[in-house]
Amino acid sequence: MDEAKPIKIPKKIGIAGAGLAGLLSALWIKEKNPEVEIEIFERRKKDKYRIDCAEALLDQRKAFDRVGELVKPFITNKLDKVVWKMELDGEYKLSTIRYSQPPCWMVDRLSWQRDLMEKVERHGVSITFGERVDPIRILDDFDLVVDARGTQSREYFASGVYSVFSGNFEKIADTTISEIREDSNVYYWIFPINAKLANIGCGTYFDFIKRRVLEEYISELEFNLDEEIKRGAGLVDISYGAMLHHGEEKVIAEQVDGKGIVRVGDAAGLADPLSGEGMTGAISSAFWLAYSISRGDHLDNPDYLAEYERKVRVENEFLSQTMAAMEARREHYRDFVKFMSLLDGVNGKYLTSKLFVLRYPIRALKLRFM
Ligand SMILES: Cc1cc2nc3c(=O)[nH]c(=O)nc-3n(C[C@H](O)[C@H](O)[C@H](O)COP(=O)(O)OP(=O)(O)OC[C@H]3O[C@@H](n4cnc5c(N)ncnc54)[C@H](O)[C@@H]3O)c2cc1C
Repeated sequence: MDEAKPIKIPKKIGIAGAGLAGLLSALWIKEKNPEVEIEIFERRKKDKYRIDCAEALLDQRKAFDRVGELVKPFITNKLDKVVWKMELDGEYKLSTIRYSQPPCWMVDRLSWQRDLMEKVERHGVSITFGERVDPIRILDDFDLVVDARGTQSREYFASGVYSVFSGNFEKIADTTISEIREDSNVYYWIFPINAKLANIGCGTYFDFIKRRVLEEYISELEFNLDEEIKRGAGLVDISYGAMLHHGEEKVIAEQVDGKGIVRVGDAAGLADPLSGEGMTGAISSAFWLAYSISRGDHLDNPDYLAEYERKVRVENEFLSQTMAAMEARREHYRDFVKFMSLLDGVNGKYLTSKLFVLRYPIRALKLRFM
């Protein structure tokens, strides 16, 4: 980015993509700068608008604080127990971690994003459906173009497939189940939406997962599944963490002919390489974009692009570590299972605190010297 030339605070903004990142960017920019004109372009037609996601919103990157009130009406479940099911030497090891604050909410994303659409439209933002745009090509019409098109990287991505089933999930209604297997890059999940519905899926890294893999998993499940209610599939962009881990920088804000182009959400590669979750990356980047634009206005610091890039970098530094953890899980699978097994029964609130050492001294010692 050319830091020598300060760039003017945008008065007219075009957003490519009406996903979570695009909609929250529009909402939060408008809330802080009502005079800014914003137009959103969504490639899907309004009646074909859809979400391909397992809909688990994790407590990462301050997401709960930032969208708490906005998302509240659309929370369908709070999951405070995580069960890891890990295959080792042909058997399964289980590790259960319970949290006092739920680390994960299930969200009805389609209803939430439709609500966000209504909110931004009430702020005077126009949304044009059925229009696929190229951020560079629409730059002539705007001072700033926000690339919120979702996954763009074909190098660093994860892919997932899922189905939502009805059935009896009462016994696991507060639990996320994550499964991994030896000699496999596939991970599986069960996320109960409520006692009668669950999102069941699987994913893999740097490759396209086949639905057949999910069908095999489902056929082995011990639950009674009734009916498949819906299904979906898609890609997740983990390029930010992957590049950072390998010593490169993903450019997420740049100046082109005195105008700005920024990337948010998956278009900025902000999904978590370990968990594949990306809603909090969308929330975090939208938040910092609105912050940087409004701060530039108020503090006479017009270089909002540099400010945006800085803020996102600070909040997403950890993605380099989760990328390392993802690689370590693949390369040192046995150690990972041993590590996770040591956490069995631990209350999640101790995991990042010194209390863990006091409460579980032997396990803490084993973790230290394993
Ligand atoms: C199978 C699967 C399961 C997942 N599960 C979870 C989960 O449980 N929890 C979690 O946090 N994350 C999950 N993710 C990741 C999460 O869905 C994404 O990280 C998140 O949607 C990113 O939001 P976004 O707004 O950046 O992009 P998107 O939600 O992808 O939105 C992009 C929007 O842009 C539109 N668009 C694309 N190209 C253009 C164009 N050229 N012009 C105009 N519009 C365009 C698209 O139609 C779309 O509406 C999952 C992803 C997949 C695929």
